Amino acid sequence: MFEEIYSPVQKITFAPFNNLFVKRDDLIDPYISGNKWRKLKYILAKAKAENKTHLVTFGGPYSNHLVATAAAASRSGLTATAFVRGEEVKNEMLLLCSLFGMKLIFTDRESYRDKHQLFDQYFASNAQAFFINEGGASVEATIGCAEVIEELAEPYDHIFCAAGTGTTAAGLLKGIQQHNLNTKLHIIPVLKGASFIKDEIAKYTPLSNQLTLHLDYHFGGYAKTTPELIDFIKTFTAQTGLLLDPVYTAKMFYAIRDLQQKGIIGTDEKVLAIHTGGLMGLFGMKDKF
Ligand SMILES: *Cc1c(COP(=O)(O)O)cnc(C)c1O
Repeated sequence: MFEEIYSPVQKITFAPFNNLFVKRDDLIDPYISGNKWRKLKYILAKAKAENKTHLVTFGGPYSNHLVATAAAASRSGLTATAFVRGEEVKNEMLLLCSLFGMKLIFTDRESYRDKHQLFDQYFASNAQAFFINEGGASVEATIGCAEVIEELAEPYDHIFCAAGTGTTAAGLLKGIQQHNLNTKLHIIPVLKGASFIKDEIAKYTPLSNQLTLHLDYHFGGYAKTTPELIDFIKTFTAQTGLLLDPVYTAKMFYAIRDLQQKGIIGTDEKVLAIHTGGLMGLFGMKDKF
C-alpha cells in the first residue's frame, strides 16, 4: 500500500495569485490522508521489521491520525488499538476507525497525558504491540514527509504547510535542506502559542532562516474557527474546487492570501501549498457552516 501514490502538483486559479500551486497529498487516499500517509509509511515499515502486528496509538475523537492508522493497519494485515482522549462518544471518524477494526479505549484526560504509562498498563506483556505516538510524531514520520520535496519537479519560491505537532514541518525542512533548495518554508501552526513547534522541528533537523513560523493564524486555537475563516472556506472552495478543512488547510490558505495582501508574498512568485488532507475534519464542524 505504500508503493504507488497519486499526489500531483496542480496550478490553481485564486486571484490575485498567478503562480499558486497545490501539492495534492489529499488525493493520496481518502482515509490514510495527506501527511498521515507520509508519516505512517516508515512507522509501519519499522513495525513490520520488528515483527510487530498490533499498532497502539493515541488521539482525540476527531483525529485524522486515528482513522489513518486504522485504515493502514487493516490494509497491511495488522490490528490496532487507539486510546481516545475523553469520555466515550460516537462520531463519523470513530465509526470509520471501528469499521477498519480498530479497538477504541476511551481514556480520561488525566490518564491520557502519559502515553507510555497507558501503553505499559495495557500492553507491557504483549510482544506484538507497537507504540505509535499521538499524531505519529517520530523520526520515521519526518523521513516520510521529506519525500514530498523529492517529488517536486520544479523549484518554488515559497512552500506553505499547516502544523499541529510540527513533525511534517520538520520533514519538509529536512527535504529542502537535503536538496539544497533556496525555497522559503512557511509553517502555519493551528494552535495558539505554538512557538514550541520550533523546538519540535529542531529535534529532527537544524533550524535555518529558510523557515518562518507564522504564529497569528490560529483563529483562537486548535479546532477553533471564526465566521471569517468559515467564509473564507466557502469562497475558496467555490472558486477553486478544492475542499479545505477548518482545522488545518483553511488556516494555511488564509495565511497565504493574508501574507500576499501584506506584501510579504508577491503575486508572481511561485508558491506551493501542501494540501495535507484531513477533509473529514469538516464533519466535526458541520454546525459552524
Ligand atoms: C495532522 C495534520 C496536520 C499536522 O501535522 P503535524 O505533523 O502534526 O504538524 C496538518 N494537516 C492535516 C490535514 C492534518 O491532518
